Amino acid sequence: MSSAPLLTDRLGRPLRNLRISVTDRCNMRCRYCMPEADYVWLPRQSILTFEEIGRLAGIFTGLGVTKLRLTGGEPLLRHDLPTLVSLLAGNSALHDLALTTNGILLQRHALALRAAGLRRVTVSLDTLRPDRMLEFARSARHGDVLRGIESALGAGFDSVKLNTVVIAGYNDDEITDLLEFGRRQGVEVRFIEYMDVGGATGWSPAQVVSQGQILQAVERRYGPVTARHEGSWAPAERFALRDGTVFGVIASTTAPFCRTCDRARLTADGTWLLCLYGEQGLDLRELLRIGADDAEIAARLTAGWKARTDRGAEQRATLAERGVLHQIETLRADPRREMHTRGG
Ligand code: SAM
Ligand code: SF4
Ligand code: SF4
Repeated sequence: MSSAPLLTDRLGRPLRNLRISVTDRCNMRCRYCMPEADYVWLPRQSILTFEEIGRLAGIFTGLGVTKLRLTGGEPLLRHDLPTLVSLLAGNSALHDLALTTNGILLQRHALALRAAGLRRVTVSLDTLRPDRMLEFARSARHGDVLRGIESALGAGFDSVKLNTVVIAGYNDDEITDLLEFGRRQGVEVRFIEYMDVGGATGWSPAQVVSQGQILQAVERRYGPVTARHEGSWAPAERFALRDGTVFGVIASTTAPFCRTCDRARLTADGTWLLCLYGEQGLDLRELLRIGADDAEIAARLTAGWKARTDRGAEQRATLAERGVLHQIETLRADPRREMHTRGG
């Protein structure tokens, strides 16, 4: 366990988890995340260097963070990611170091990432049909994703999981096929409800497939499932089929879990956000580059977390009329509001 005294926010939630977006760029255009034809990218000189990320990670672990996830954008587009992984893996206060990727470039990097000290990998896979991926995510590289999953399985990670965002009329007829695929490969599938966050400018309630509907689809094929009631701080609720196969559902839209949210995010350009829906962030890059020392930065983080009251998804769920969170003009004016910039 971390020796840091427990830092908690106004709702008693500790700071334990940090998601770091290492790039806002992506080689896919998933309709639920990057549906637009063009984007405003963060200026290259504003992207945190590996040394800056490593230094911030050290300050965060000093405040109680024990779990770190690299994400994006597509994190494997960041040149030489294994070097960053080995820098972070040298931080003995970290109990978990994970990566979320779309898998396209994973075959090439899986062994180097494992050797560098990456513990866990989550690959996003929304469909088993290449034609659907081409249409929905504008990528013809479905085969590369499958080979990426295989490479991850062969590389010896502590765990490999799959993330599937379920969207009505797109892939809701593949829920059990994806579960079957996961079962065959020996990887846990986590179904995610479509969220109205950031760049989801095409979001509408009618496209959300709820946890209840996902479970119904699974039970129609496999019979009753059992909830595992793990009482953890993890966002996925886990269930087991009769044969013991475990899968997860992340009900961020219909049954948000803000009450147990111990996660903060760091954008690729060093803005610290307290919530996926957070409006304002703290510019840590500026603090680093004007020469603030670790104690000063730690004091700002401590004050920020102590004041935290964010419950973004819960507040969205109380709205009588729910539409997209941001219009495209707002996103263009402030790209840090994008999911691919703040890190999913
Ligand atoms: N590019 C990598 C990938 O796709 O795995 C990492 C970044 S992506 C933003 C992280 C996760 O967020 C992915 O699993 C993706 O499916 C999920 N995601 C993106 N937009 C979403 C949305 N509107 N609702 C729910 N999940 C979303
Ligand atoms: Fe899709 Fe991930 Fe890229 Fe978003 S960042 S478009 S979810 S691959
Ligand atoms: Fe945490 Fe914000 Fe997501 Fe709620 S909406 S679970 S507070 S990141």
